[in-house]
Amino acid sequence: MKLKNHDHIAIIGGGPAGSLTACFLLEMAQKMNISLHVDIFEPRDFTATGPPGCNMCGGVVSELLMQKMAAEGISLPKSVLLDGIDSYVLHTDADAVFIRPARAEMRIASIFRGAGPLGAESQRPLPWTSFDQHFLEMAMNRGAQHIPRRVHRLARTADLKLQVFLRPERGETAGCETPSDPYDLLVGCVGLNGSGIKLFDDLAFGYRPPPSDRAWIVELYMGDEEVHRRLGNAMHIFLLNIPRLKFAAMIPKGHYATFIILGRDVDEELANQVFHAPQVRQLFPDGWHNPVRPCHCQPRISIGSPQRPFADRVVLVGDCAASRLYKDGIGAAYRMAKVCALTALTRGITAQDFKQGYWPACQSLERDNRLGHMLFAVDRLLRHFPPFGQALLMVIRDEQNRPQDPHRLGSAIWDTFTGSASYKNIFVRAAHPVVVVRLLRAVSKAIFTRIRTGRQVQKQGYPHVI
Ligand SMILES: Cc1cc2nc3c(=O)[nH]c(=O)nc-3n(C[C@H](O)[C@H](O)[C@H](O)COP(=O)(O)OP(=O)(O)OC[C@H]3O[C@@H](n4cnc5c(N)ncnc54)[C@H](O)[C@@H]3O)c2cc1C
Repeated sequence: MKLKNHDHIAIIGGGPAGSLTACFLLEMAQKMNISLHVDIFEPRDFTATGPPGCNMCGGVVSELLMQKMAAEGISLPKSVLLDGIDSYVLHTDADAVFIRPARAEMRIASIFRGAGPLGAESQRPLPWTSFDQHFLEMAMNRGAQHIPRRVHRLARTADLKLQVFLRPERGETAGCETPSDPYDLLVGCVGLNGSGIKLFDDLAFGYRPPPSDRAWIVELYMGDEEVHRRLGNAMHIFLLNIPRLKFAAMIPKGHYATFIILGRDVDEELANQVFHAPQVRQLFPDGWHNPVRPCHCQPRISIGSPQRPFADRVVLVGDCAASRLYKDGIGAAYRMAKVCALTALTRGITAQDFKQGYWPACQSLERDNRLGHMLFAVDRLLRHFPPFGQALLMVIRDEQNRPQDPHRLGSAIWDTFTGSASYKNIFVRAAHPVVVVRLLRAVSKAIFTRIRTGRQVQKQGYPHVI
């Protein structure tokens, strides 16, 4: 069963996964002289500020991903890219260290998924444009049709094609849903937030979404000057000894700093602990008080793998299927959208076709994520064995002072928080014998210093690092 001329495809969700799947399907089909009709169902207005227009994300994209996409004609205009980030500051309980990328193409940029945080509408005309709107328009320019409605139910027709039912709008009678014309292929790109993933229960093909954790994002308005004075062109990563915290990050974005907290089901209590940590507070302007009603959300982030994200004529792509652990969700959506389109067009659209053509790519991401989980488990060492934290910073600092050094540990840490490399690649660098020997030496030195001075390293504020 293959896609053929004039087939109809429904894509549910117009985030990066949905728009990119549409782009790849339409472009590849055109090269094969196949004309497809692609509908994208997406109720969000990405030109709106605050939650109605936003798909809730840290908004960091790597230059490497931008270069890869540009090579395929998927380019990001300057108006989408806010700040170029050319360094990290890694904050631990012991101290902080600067990390610069080994190569220029490893830099990252920050973006707003929607039209910006709640309240930004007062700054219209806005000096930036929405990332998701740009991708959706790109799909429309390639021939996709945007249907600005929420899908409410799915069903199969007698000949096993797919029908979508739209949520009744104001003024329409509930219960009087009109089914769509049948679709030959249905692509689910509904992410992990909201009720979109429940739609697939209707089709009962054994799909289970990946397990996820609740994260925390808040947009802090500080003003352009203060953001640059406090954060510089650096993303600040916090690996702190706070129970349930994986890591937190502060990302400069024009007048705003986006603060994200990842951990085990982040709630207000954990967020407050992180906000009050001295390592975090010292980056805020003097006398800073948290805004009373900041633009804040608690999106879900994938931490595992899905079950059976495909069936005959149905496939799921993006966060609701396979993604990268704690980073590069947009890059993962890009890669999986491409594999999905290629499978549908060259192999076919049965469950067996997706199992053979698409599922191996999901599993490969999952295998890599397992290594990611191992790398992130190192944070337990940082937490329970403070000399390790000191040693880590010592080795990174030492590397940065050696211009000829390949900066294995620093670059591994850099890539852990960006999409520039797989976890396997990071693991190989971090476990390199030279790094291990340097770390062991630095740990012994840290233990010796602690014994000699006889005092515990205090959890303390430290001078500004910028
Ligand atoms: C705290 C946090 C920080 C992150 N930071 C980054 C980062 O810095 N860089 C990065 O690359 N990734 C990051 N990610 C991951 C990134 O946000 C996701 O990987 C990415 O958004 C996945 O795209 P998607 O299209 O699969 O899903 P989404 O972006 O969630 O889009 C899903 C779309 O489906 C639509 N939809 C849902 N239900 C329906 C329905 N019933 N009918 C019609 N439409 C529907 C929604 O409106 C939405 O637009 C982060 C995630 C979290 C939680």
